[in-house]
Amino acid sequence: MRAVQIHETGGPANLVLAADVATPACGPNDVLVRNHFSGVNFIDTYHRSGLYKVPLPYVPGREAAGLVEAVGANVRNFKPGDRVAYFSSGSYAEFSAVPEGYVVHLPDSVSFETGASMLLQGLTAMGLACIAHNTKPGEFALVYAAAGGTGQMLVQVCKELGATVIGITSTADKAAIAREAGADHVITYATEDIAARVAEITGGKGANVIFDGVGKSSFDTSLACIARLGSLLSFGNASGKVDPIDIMKLVPKQIRLMRPSLFGLITTPEDFQKFAKELVEHVRAGTYKIAIHKIYDLADAPVAHTDLESGKTTGKLILRI
Ligand code: NDP
Repeated sequence: MRAVQIHETGGPANLVLAADVATPACGPNDVLVRNHFSGVNFIDTYHRSGLYKVPLPYVPGREAAGLVEAVGANVRNFKPGDRVAYFSSGSYAEFSAVPEGYVVHLPDSVSFETGASMLLQGLTAMGLACIAHNTKPGEFALVYAAAGGTGQMLVQVCKELGATVIGITSTADKAAIAREAGADHVITYATEDIAARVAEITGGKGANVIFDGVGKSSFDTSLACIARLGSLLSFGNASGKVDPIDIMKLVPKQIRLMRPSLFGLITTPEDFQKFAKELVEHVRAGTYKIAIHKIYDLADAPVAHTDLESGKTTGKLILRI
């Protein structure tokens, strides 16, 4: 089958399209999916760069949508021809064999493009806002990169949970997108001081929960913006891995600091099914909107990585397989 592989860690050029990769075997509990579109996520760039270690050669990609090609002997909920989305590794490829518990049906009204765009970022947003922190009405939630893929999902999930959402973006264009996603306030950091604006918006109290996927360059600003007893969820490395921290920095405001990951929050097929079905229903009903930035051909995976890492994209990037 055709698949993108990483033979050596490094830059986007290390994503190499091959035509002769072995099609994965469909085990007894697996669903073999013919992928139509694969999501592109920051985690794929970490696998490619070597920030997160994987065995090489490696087919990147953690989610896709497509048609069921075949099912293993023990699979009960899927049959060939079903429209599905899933999360599992190796999705920059024509086929993936996925444990049944991590596959979800796609309603006819939800396109494959949307199906490939929503699971990883949507479930991250739900996991962060519902499990890592119990986001509640009346809380101020601060969301970095609020026009990004995960950011737009976080804005929508936090609004649904009743929080007042403050989005942070780099530009006025991105600020408009964050507002459209539902942010009550947006801070444009190219022209505004983030901590001063958060203090102004929250009456000096700070944000009760901060969703910080930017990482290295934003950590100290997050400390400045958080409320007493607030939760700082540092969940990504878009600007690099956070430097080692002095634990005493958490004392003045009695901060709860967590470094969550989706695969550490949603750890069982039961959790996946519960949240994924809820997410699919929100998308089907139109209560959560999925914004697609651009669709790239599989051969252009290096361009997609370059674009995502540039910080200039908004919403989701996907590959057409
Ligand atoms: P985004 O669409 O949010 O793109 C990243 C955004 O981060 C940029 O658009 C930019 O927004 C902002 N940014 C700030 N500084 C930089 C920089 N130096 N380089 C690049 N971008 C920068 O990407 P994703 O939604 O795919 O991911 C966002 C974060 O969430 C990543 O750190 C990712 O690792 C993390 N994540 C973590 C998960 C987990 O399980 N822990 C799961 C999913 C995502 P702006 O211009 O507005 O500042």
